[in-house]
Amino acid sequence: MGAMKKKHLSIGVIFSLLFVLVLPFAFSVNNNSTLLSALDSVISFDYPNQNVSTKIPILMYHYVRNVDKNFDPMGWRLSISPEYFEEQMKYLKENGYTTINLKDIEDGKVPEKSIVLTFDDGLEDFYTTALPVLQKYGFTASNAIITDMIGNKGHMTMEQLRACRSAGIEIISHSKSHSSMSSLSKNNLLSQILDSGDFLKNNFGVEPLSFVFPSGKYNKLVIKTLKENGYKIALTTNEGEANLSNDDMLILPRIRIDNRRAISGFQKTLEELLIKK
Ligand SMILES: [Zn+2]
Repeated sequence: MGAMKKKHLSIGVIFSLLFVLVLPFAFSVNNNSTLLSALDSVISFDYPNQNVSTKIPILMYHYVRNVDKNFDPMGWRLSISPEYFEEQMKYLKENGYTTINLKDIEDGKVPEKSIVLTFDDGLEDFYTTALPVLQKYGFTASNAIITDMIGNKGHMTMEQLRACRSAGIEIISHSKSHSSMSSLSKNNLLSQILDSGDFLKNNFGVEPLSFVFPSGKYNKLVIKTLKENGYKIALTTNEGEANLSNDDMLILPRIRIDNRRAISGFQKTLEELLIKK
């Protein structure tokens, strides 16, 4: 009896473990192709014009600042040093790249060698460090704003955001408080999307039709909610070049740029994409 009970107990433990370990995967975000093919509400743009490039690198930046790699390895991986950033912009200029906004993609204005520069989180060093470099090279960029964080330490103020707008920087939504969208109830999800969108619209006169998933998390409900509320483009943290003729516009991949992909890595990545075209 004792042995029997023990055996049942072990099976029970194994089942419980399976539940704990496997279930979260079954119901959590799936940034994979199963989700893509399961989507019945795919948004795609038709690019009938053969001259329009349908593949485009969308670069993802966070901080533009100097960080001591040994002291703050995580911060180092989320940053690009100002010197590297300047060299990257110089490279893009010298190699004939045109920076465009997400709105241009939506409008089908995608010339040869187009590239999108996105900056996540509305960080202050975008204004103090990146913007002057972008202006020097005549480049534009898209900044993904967490509306509840505006004016917080390390984040841009309303005034700085207005100056960005005047400089032609595209302002897009990165939710209200950077919650993981895939774990929110329908009401909270709506609030994260609508409140941030309304705020950006009322304060900057922009209708944000583009969204960046906080921490790259999304699921079918998030995508459906964005679509129902007029969003045309949403960016993930999935690695890759965006293919405008094939990809779902509400889950576009990006190319992460930080100190690990500084100069040679940056050039190599872009050169390899050109060869594949
Ligand atoms: Zn973020």
